[in-house]
Amino acid sequence: TQIGSYPKNVGGSRGILARWTSTEAVQSDDGFKGHGMLAPFTPGWQTSDVHPLVIEKSKGSYVYDIDGKKYLDSLAGLWCTALGGSEPRLVDAATKQLNTLPFYHSFWNRTTKPSLDLAKELLEMFTASKMKKVFFTNSGSEANDTQVKLVWYYNNALGRPKKKKFIARSKSYHGSTIISASLSGLPALHQNFDLPTPFVLHTDCPHYWRFHLPGETEEQFSTRLATNLENLIIKEGPETIAAFIAEPVMGAGGVIPPPEGYFEKIQAVVKKYDILFIADEVICAFGRLGTMFGCDKYNIKPDLVSIAKALSSAYMPIGAVLVCPEVADVISSQSNKLGALSHGFTYSGHPVACAVALEALKIYKERNIVEKVNSVAPKFQNGLKAFSSSPIIGEIRGTGLILATEFADNKSPDTPFPPEWGIGAYFGAQCAEHGMLVRIAGDNIMMSPPFIITPDEVDELISIYRKALMATEKRVE
Ligand code: PLP
Repeated sequence: TQIGSYPKNVGGSRGILARWTSTEAVQSDDGFKGHGMLAPFTPGWQTSDVHPLVIEKSKGSYVYDIDGKKYLDSLAGLWCTALGGSEPRLVDAATKQLNTLPFYHSFWNRTTKPSLDLAKELLEMFTASKMKKVFFTNSGSEANDTQVKLVWYYNNALGRPKKKKFIARSKSYHGSTIISASLSGLPALHQNFDLPTPFVLHTDCPHYWRFHLPGETEEQFSTRLATNLENLIIKEGPETIAAFIAEPVMGAGGVIPPPEGYFEKIQAVVKKYDILFIADEVICAFGRLGTMFGCDKYNIKPDLVSIAKALSSAYMPIGAVLVCPEVADVISSQSNKLGALSHGFTYSGHPVACAVALEALKIYKERNIVEKVNSVAPKFQNGLKAFSSSPIIGEIRGTGLILATEFADNKSPDTPFPPEWGIGAYFGAQCAEHGMLVRIAGDNIMMSPPFIITPDEVDELISIYRKALMATEKRVE
């Protein structure tokens, strides 16, 4: 690739980012400049003069900003509005529940019908391995925090007080509370937060394109990673390792589907040392990969599962932990001994969130959502992967309705573009200009459209992508 440089007036990396962020932002003097929110994962809003993009309403696969500009929401909010932005049945379910019982808790053996029904439904739906109990949370982060507490409680009950460490993977994303951010393998989540906590270890990221050795096949790469995992376990002492946590397809770390044979080999190692397997299905569950759960796709047989996001199609905040019989039984008998399982949130099993989730699951079944995803996914995947030959694209990867584009020079992970060029930010801004929102993470562009996206909308998505890519190629040439 012939690399040029951006015009001088664009400024340094901060300038480029600010400028391209501002093109998708509200320009009028509307009072949002210097707003009062300490905004999550937001570069510079606190100090810069960049306006936020204020979204006002949604319809199907689209969202609209306060100036009425329409965007195809290619990330489905934050990988979560599976049924799009205007599913009336979810609104009705919430309204009905709000009118009947807007709140009651689930402490001290009191609970509500929607939470009981939802637990039952989830236990029936998850079939990759047998699950016995469901613990409700408000988010994916809380689900993963709960995982750690349940696993510690379990090992204490079994008289294994040393078996407390967790192994997660580099580039994983498991949330942003103290524990879930520690599990996450993204340096930005640790820097200046005094994380990760010492009980978390990180093993290899299974990204074949980036990390394989010359001549190494995917299968050989997976074998090497499983061996590295085993060596880490032996080095630390298997009696100190409680659990391994993995997303079936890594999401926020860059959409990384597992290489050939990966989960088979990893699971064999984990099993050998009596280590629990936790599947973080927060993004993958309910159809995103073209199977009801990510575990179904990769033949993962987890002991514990975290879910959230599409569980309610994000209309209400809710997450959950599914617990296998072995762990559930130990926890039950221990909590009976101690008096109670002293863990829970005011809103665990919130009836409105559970009612909405129940309706979402009903819709997934009635509309055969997995088949729906599979009917549109090839158009989405093939349509976008056709751009792989672009000289500024290193890799396009994905499966089902999740995909990432990684920009790189010379098609190689070893020659990224200078960050100050803001290639990803520029591409993202071009998408926004043409009416589509994407997730920008450096030079990685991620998409996970709603499950209800139509073939015509996929055509539109591809067409906007093409325009943004052509503009970005021009900038680099
Ligand atoms: N786990 C995974 C795989 C996620 O992608 C996320 C969020 O993106 C989380 C956990 C955290 O979920 P939440 O943001 O609901 O806390």
